[in-house]
Amino acid sequence: MRKPIIAGNWKMFKTIAEADSFVQHLPVVEQEVDVVVCAPFTALFSLTEPLRAKNIALGAQNVHWESEGAFTGEVSPGMLAEIGVKYVIIGHSERRAYFNETDETVNRKVRSALDARLMPIVCVGENLSVREAGQTSTIVNGQITAALSELSAEQLNQIVIAYEPIWAIGTGQTATAEEANEVIKAIRGCIAEQFGSQWAEQVRIQYGGSVNPQNIQGFMSQSDIDGALVGGASLTPDSFIALVKGAA
Ligand code: 13P
Repeated sequence: MRKPIIAGNWKMFKTIAEADSFVQHLPVVEQEVDVVVCAPFTALFSLTEPLRAKNIALGAQNVHWESEGAFTGEVSPGMLAEIGVKYVIIGHSERRAYFNETDETVNRKVRSALDARLMPIVCVGENLSVREAGQTSTIVNGQITAALSELSAEQLNQIVIAYEPIWAIGTGQTATAEEANEVIKAIRGCIAEQFGSQWAEQVRIQYGGSVNPQNIQGFMSQSDIDGALVGGASLTPDSFIALVKGAA
């Protein structure tokens, strides 16, 4: 049985004061769902203890692949681990589109995050023209193969995958739950080919893209969808709490 996992991706929203106020409004989370808040770098340290008290894991939204060095503006996996970060989003489509991240840099980040005992939330997804050309699974499975290159099968237990169709992010337009499930099944098949189906069956795969409290249950009722990576609807406590309830 794969444990459901709901992760909020705050993107570039919330000051420290706003982040602290958000967490104060949350109840203690029950054990049946893993809950993660991926905050901006500046708010991470101050959230460590308040989130721990609510049984919620702390996540970052990016990381560099080197452990240290002359990389102005970057943050290493060890630096995140030191302040209590457990998860890190890697390869979000906004980072691929605006900050030149590639399949190769995504793979380097995944491997070094794992070395530092962080759990990567690896993002993949197709744009609208790929979808319309019927190439979704080809493109997405290519991203998966590249992201997981050189990993051992055992390391798959330390990874979460987020399937986020780019055209569904922040648009209010979602893939249907059935469509998302089909792509996610294909991702699981791709992982099975590389690592064996007993490992693929254990990997948690989220859907992301305009998930909200009204549609979360539809996604969670699908066979292969294990949770959600949520942007806009993770920004207010009421909506975030409703998402977690919807995933339980
Ligand atoms: P929205 O939930 O705002 O569509 O964002 C999805 C996303 O990009 C999460 O990483």
